[in-house]
Amino acid sequence: MTAPDHALSTVRARIEAACREAERDPDSVRLLAVSKTRDADEIRALHACGQTAFGENYVPELVDKYDTLEAPPAPLGLEWHFIGALQGNKTRAVAERAAWVHTIDRERIARRLADQRPAGMPPLQVCLQVNISEEPQKAGVAPAEAAALADALRELPGLELRGLMAIPAAEDDPRRQREPFARLRALRDILNTRGHTLDTLSMGMSGDLEAAILEGATLVRVGTALFGPRPPK
Ligand SMILES: *Cc1c(COP(=O)(O)O)cnc(C)c1O
Repeated sequence: MTAPDHALSTVRARIEAACREAERDPDSVRLLAVSKTRDADEIRALHACGQTAFGENYVPELVDKYDTLEAPPAPLGLEWHFIGALQGNKTRAVAERAAWVHTIDRERIARRLADQRPAGMPPLQVCLQVNISEEPQKAGVAPAEAAALADALRELPGLELRGLMAIPAAEDDPRRQREPFARLRALRDILNTRGHTLDTLSMGMSGDLEAAILEGATLVRVGTALFGPRPPK
């Protein structure tokens, strides 16, 4: 495992350098630490270095780690983001724990989350996942259908639509990495001209966070560069 303080400052330095190149305020980009497959102690160690927002992909892992780290009498008070595929029968566990869900791509899932959000909690902050590279097998709403889905979410109490999220097709060339991110930003701008007020672009991971920041990312989701390579499945 990489020393967590060193990994965190390296990633923060990458974010700051990309913000300088983009002439953006470094505070305009949040870092989400993607802790899938990592254990509660690794999250604790990164939190001790100052990281507060963590992203989980699998519901059982979210439940496990949340229930370990947020148990009374000394909950850590982390901000938990769910960034994985969400099935209808698993929504309640997420609605009861997460502050954010980045992977809304169907109205049915959004309705379940809204219904199941406990009354005492703030509204669940959500992003629509967009299949921005229009890959046949990939999760996410088609770009052409994003506006209709965003409009449908407007009616749901318990949810607050904050923005768009995408995982583009893998691409090594930094110039070509920017193209799908630019399309996601353009789609966000179109939705905002239709009366939405989306302030979040969840895009960019360990291998392409610079390209995403150059195209306006406000939240980058970083796993490997913070925690080291994941064990093979
Ligand atoms: C795993 C994952 C990440 C982090 O990927 P790295 O390449 O390890 O930084 C980001 N977003 C999603 C949705 C993921 O599943």
